[in-house]
Amino acid sequence: MTFESLSLSKSLLRSLASAGYHQPTPIQQQTIPHALKGHDVVGCAQTGTGKTAAFALPTLQRLMESANRPTTGAAKRRQRSGRRVIRSLILSPTRELAAQIGESLVTYGTFSGLKYTVIFGGVKQHSQVKALQQGVDILVATPGRLLDLVNQGFVHLENVEILILDEADQMLDMGFINDLHKIVAEVPDDRQTLMFSATMPSEIRSLARQWLRRPTEVQATPEASMPELVSQLVYYVERKNKQKVVTQLLMNPERNKTLIFSRTRRGADKIARRLTRDGIYALSIHGDKTQATRRSVMQKFGSKRPPVLVATDLASRGLDFSDISHVINYDLPNAPEVYVHRIGRTARAGASGKAITLCSSDERPQLRLIEKLTGQRVPVEKAPMASHELRTMTKKPETAEGEAAPSPKQAGQGKKSRSPKWRARRKSKPSRGSTANASSRGKGGKGSRKKKKEGKQVAVNG
Ligand code: AMP
Repeated sequence: MTFESLSLSKSLLRSLASAGYHQPTPIQQQTIPHALKGHDVVGCAQTGTGKTAAFALPTLQRLMESANRPTTGAAKRRQRSGRRVIRSLILSPTRELAAQIGESLVTYGTFSGLKYTVIFGGVKQHSQVKALQQGVDILVATPGRLLDLVNQGFVHLENVEILILDEADQMLDMGFINDLHKIVAEVPDDRQTLMFSATMPSEIRSLARQWLRRPTEVQATPEASMPELVSQLVYYVERKNKQKVVTQLLMNPERNKTLIFSRTRRGADKIARRLTRDGIYALSIHGDKTQATRRSVMQKFGSKRPPVLVATDLASRGLDFSDISHVINYDLPNAPEVYVHRIGRTARAGASGKAITLCSSDERPQLRLIEKLTGQRVPVEKAPMASHELRTMTKKPETAEGEAAPSPKQAGQGKKSRSPKWRARRKSKPSRGSTANASSRGKGGKGSRKKKKEGKQVAVNG
């Protein structure tokens, strides 16, 4: 199936092509046709299935197609003043997810002419209010901050045509149920509602019955059959130690191609960067990379000297290599089916493979769910000790054929021998622009990413 066959508009198809998406994911294939017709949809899907585009694409298209029709006197007055009114509200449990949805709207809605903004708590409201006052078509919000701003009269929801509840189960877990009831009461009854949840407990089903009208049910196909030739084990490792343990594991000379899974795109970049710093040739792949970069990374992974590949779940879909010897779950996926999918990347074509999971104490409930789904206990082993002299153990930085090997200094090694004074002096100097300097690149990258994110949080995009 192609995106064209889903009757998406030319401008959306153009955005999808430039994002490098060629095929709709199963949840997109199921959701988009119903949502485009204006039907309510309740979807069981977790992050990594492409659910954001499943609700964002039809929302953008419907808003682009429908005329701006204010329903109340106040909204008519606002429209006469030339300001946009909020026609779609997307609710998310966390600020991270809200920011990610905002980024997706920028990606998919580049040519839509619509405006969006993202609001969430924990930061000052001033710039968010300013963005709202300029007028937006789509508002992405966490429930608490939204209600605050509604109560202060900065947000008006009487013109919402499409209401989206993302990760509904997490919003309930976080105690937002009363806020959600209040918000839904502010939104017109005559609306389209799309609700997504990673799990479908009875409370979610009951809310769906209250808030949705004859919804179509969609689901990302669960995969529960266990690949037989994969030997699995789990190490109990706290988050702060995971990176060291991974580096230690990767020093195993018996490993061949190794794939590490990270739940988030940012996490994937960070893991790859730190491995590089530890002298291990590693690259990351995820949805934020351009198509050209992804292709180049895949080529390198298919070569004789492959890098360790750090991938997010969706990016791993296209990976079909028969010689992946090790899969490492840096963190546990939210849904147990995703674990089965991940470890199925190894032991292909009759080969055997190893799946190693790093589980921190707060991830144990997820591990139990996996064991329940597969009906198998994952053997627990003692994690390899992370030596504090790890860096000196890394004799020679690995590198792909023909690629410049970062020197230990460039890869962030040998830092210990430098005095703090030297580091302070070094920091204040402008970078010499060495592209192989993973250490300084890491620091600079972090700072600039942070700035970029802060800018995006409140920007009216599109
Ligand atoms: P989500 O489940 O919405 O968080 O999406 C997970 C990742 O998949 C994001 O990085 C998206 O950019 C990416 N993605 C979504 N739809 C597609 C698609 N059809 N093809 C390739 N990547 C996609």
